[in-house]
Amino acid sequence: MLLSIVVPAYNEQEALPIFYRETVKVLKGMECGYEFVFVNDGSKDETLSVLKELSEKDENVTYLSFSRNFGKEAAMYAGFCNAKGDFVTVMDADLQDPPALLPEMLKKIRENNCDSVAVRRENRKGEPPVRSFFAKLFYKLINKISDADIVDGARDFRMMKREMIDAIVEMSEYNRFSKGIFGWLGFNTEWISYRNVERVAGETKWSFWKLFKYSVDGIVNFSQVPLTVVSVSGVIMTFVAFFMIIFVIVRRLVFGDPVAGWASLVCIITFIGGIQLFCMGIIGQYVAKTYMEAKNRPHYIIAETNRDGVKKVN
Ligand code: UDP
Ligand code: MG
Repeated sequence: MLLSIVVPAYNEQEALPIFYRETVKVLKGMECGYEFVFVNDGSKDETLSVLKELSEKDENVTYLSFSRNFGKEAAMYAGFCNAKGDFVTVMDADLQDPPALLPEMLKKIRENNCDSVAVRRENRKGEPPVRSFFAKLFYKLINKISDADIVDGARDFRMMKREMIDAIVEMSEYNRFSKGIFGWLGFNTEWISYRNVERVAGETKWSFWKLFKYSVDGIVNFSQVPLTVVSVSGVIMTFVAFFMIIFVIVRRLVFGDPVAGWASLVCIITFIGGIQLFCMGIIGQYVAKTYMEAKNRPHYIIAETNRDGVKKVN
């Protein structure tokens, strides 16, 4: 029985050796074979040489090195496409996903007859308060408006059976949002909670702006509700305008005074103009996503790897 560990890594030269050491320690104590599939996501530091070194020392280490930074989603996808294990786990390179949980996860997935074991944080200790606030808001919103069940505090850290991995690989959409994909697929998932740990070395790769764009992706990918909101607000606006027209006409006929008020008119026009542009922006998001899907570009390009038979452009 083989366990694959997929590790996306972007500028992780400091964290990777520690990650490898700690994880191997845990894996050696488990009664199963293992392989690492490291994905170097176009790092600008020495991540690739660190990976090469590891692969020379340990034959269970595979690395895939992208031609540029394609993002964590693409890196995870590359890992899933190339993992050979009966069970596959995704782990961050910064030890925020504690390898100590691996034996428990494997035990659960084998004994409880579930298809995946996922991990969630009990708290967001060590995270900037603003980030926690918006993260919570995002989870509330997306669970209301989409049918993918997305758990707050869930990490991408998950152990999955072969069947589930095959299904993920089949979902070859360009705009990927893994938390949504996992939820959308269904399957039986068991949850493990743990306390948040901070990264061992290096810095977070997610700026606030990157996270914001990622959350918009998540919403657009898994919900059509924003489009409904746009149509409904259009209908409401039309009704309001209709009654306003009747009101103005009646006032003119009965009382004879034409409507005064240039200022209020300008306000209304700008207000409605604003709403229209906003709605167009929402529609634009969907059109842009459709455009990218229609182009059918590869998710990633592998420039270098130590494994034979890897599909380089996928
Ligand atoms: N990562 C990646 N490509 C990117 C950004 C991040 O492969 O463009 C990897 C990164 O190396 C790490 C994981 O994704 O292994 C999670 O990133 P990070 O720890 O910076 O995120 P956080 O834990 O702060 O959410
Ligand atoms: Mg991290």
